[in-house]
Amino acid sequence: MTDQPSPQFDAIVIGAGMSGMYQLLKLRELGLKVRVLEAGTGVGGTWYWNRYPGARFDSESYSYAFSFSKDLLDEWDWSEHFAGQPETLRYLNHVADKFDLRKDIQFRSRVKSAHWRDATRIWDITLGDGSTFTSRFMITAVGPLSAPTMPNIPGVDSFKGQSCHTAHWPHEPVSFEGKRVAVIGTGATGVQTIQEVAKTAKHLTVFQRTPNWCAPLLNSRIDTEEMTKIRAGYPEMFQRCQETFSCFLHTPDPRATFEVSDEEREAFWEKLYASPGFGIWLGNFRDILTDRKANAAISDFVARKIRQRVKNQKTAEKLIPKNHGFGTRRVPMETKYYEAYNQDNVELVDINETPIERITPSGIKTSDTERAFDIIVYATGFDAITGSFDRIDIRGIGGQRLKDRWKHGPETYLGMTVDGFPNMAMLVGPHMALGNIPRTIEFNVEWVADLMRYARDRKVTRIEPEPDQVQAWTDHVKALGEGNLLFEVNSWMTGVNSNVEGKQVRIVNRYSGSAPDWRAKCTAVAEKDYEGMALV
Ligand code: NAP
Repeated sequence: MTDQPSPQFDAIVIGAGMSGMYQLLKLRELGLKVRVLEAGTGVGGTWYWNRYPGARFDSESYSYAFSFSKDLLDEWDWSEHFAGQPETLRYLNHVADKFDLRKDIQFRSRVKSAHWRDATRIWDITLGDGSTFTSRFMITAVGPLSAPTMPNIPGVDSFKGQSCHTAHWPHEPVSFEGKRVAVIGTGATGVQTIQEVAKTAKHLTVFQRTPNWCAPLLNSRIDTEEMTKIRAGYPEMFQRCQETFSCFLHTPDPRATFEVSDEEREAFWEKLYASPGFGIWLGNFRDILTDRKANAAISDFVARKIRQRVKNQKTAEKLIPKNHGFGTRRVPMETKYYEAYNQDNVELVDINETPIERITPSGIKTSDTERAFDIIVYATGFDAITGSFDRIDIRGIGGQRLKDRWKHGPETYLGMTVDGFPNMAMLVGPHMALGNIPRTIEFNVEWVADLMRYARDRKVTRIEPEPDQVQAWTDHVKALGEGNLLFEVNSWMTGVNSNVEGKQVRIVNRYSGSAPDWRAKCTAVAEKDYEGMALV
């Protein structure tokens, strides 16, 4: 390759969220010439874009933070067990300041296309404004939930009031006081928004298509004394996150649901329901997501809680999911969400009964009536996991489009590479253990950095996984999903988005094995000189 032209950069990283930020740091340590291209005006990715009212962690703040720097751990105090978005964004800006990251990040730079030139072993990367970059490697740090989708309801553009998707929330505060507000969507984002807006809106109307099984977050403040204790326990806590199934503090209980007496089971569920965070979903009996009877039993338990908390039993029934069991979709964590429906200023509209016909200039018309609104909030979710790749025109060998290659679902080796797309590495991509994402990010970024070091030391300029390894990993990921009730339900976790053409069929887009198993496989591949990959 000595006669070939040199690219401008050794690596271009797309995205300055948590994965892109850490990748920059690790590649800089290797002395590589790196540029991060970021569409937003600041760092933080998810926490930069999702500044909607009520946005906050659903996993424990300290377990979500970066663990790679003792200094950083020592100097950052979390104010709440589940921090709000402004605090998390402040934290990520602090990280950017501390490691002087911004000098290699180009903001307001949305990548439009990335084309691989096999003859020169270079990626040609073009931004929306037409500017171009060349790089030996391209690392995607585009996030699994970063391509927001608006609902395919006629008239969305005709509304004359204020309207916004939660992931495009304005940087200026939005007041709901004295306002008639509509929220469409009741996923984790909608739930956080609804419970917040209900506090101040004159009137809030929630348009619900599918109710979700929500569970109490039970957030609380952290005082100095508790923070000192948390800090002292960091080594054990991060070690635990390395050992649990999904890198959370919570991990499945080894017992099966019906192994215990009725009283014991009920007491265990009461305890989980009264404990902060994801315990009721991720720390429950080991079979709640694989055994239909077990799943029905926990669903019945949570349904009883909803009936107890919501005064109007007709409303309660509407809020209880009937087409999927507890935990088979991502469980939204809530704070007095159900109680919001006991307020006089909050109304629930089940759009299965009275479908939305259109958005009008003054509000929303359902089959039975038209309601006027000052603000419409679209909490309608994302074209998840592959959507953030699809919106970039990524082309590999012979001009093959990644979007076409993944038409029927992603195909990857370890979730990080794809044959036909040499020198592309994915962070938090499809087919890798997601779970508590920053824990995955740290491993993922370090694995990619090690690969880059290996390539640098051996003057390797082309890296591509072998097609049969991609096939084997993809088959393995699919096989892991068998018997998992999550894969029998439509949600972003199975790649379904009613608003995106071609995304109505369920696919296996996520790795559902344990994070330790995924990491062990990746480590073994690296230790065997990147077995299954051609490095030349
Ligand atoms: P989501 O779970 O996909 O929910 C989207 C909602 O919009 C659903 O209720 C959906 O109804 C509804 N919807 C979509 N299109 C519609 C249409 N055309 N008409 C009517 N309703 C429509 O998206 P999300 O709530 O943004 O959450 C996505 C993920 O982000 C979460 O599962 C979670 O992993 C992550 N998240 C994390 C946090 C956190 O950690 N703190 C907070 C928020 C989100 P259907 O269900 O019927 O499709």
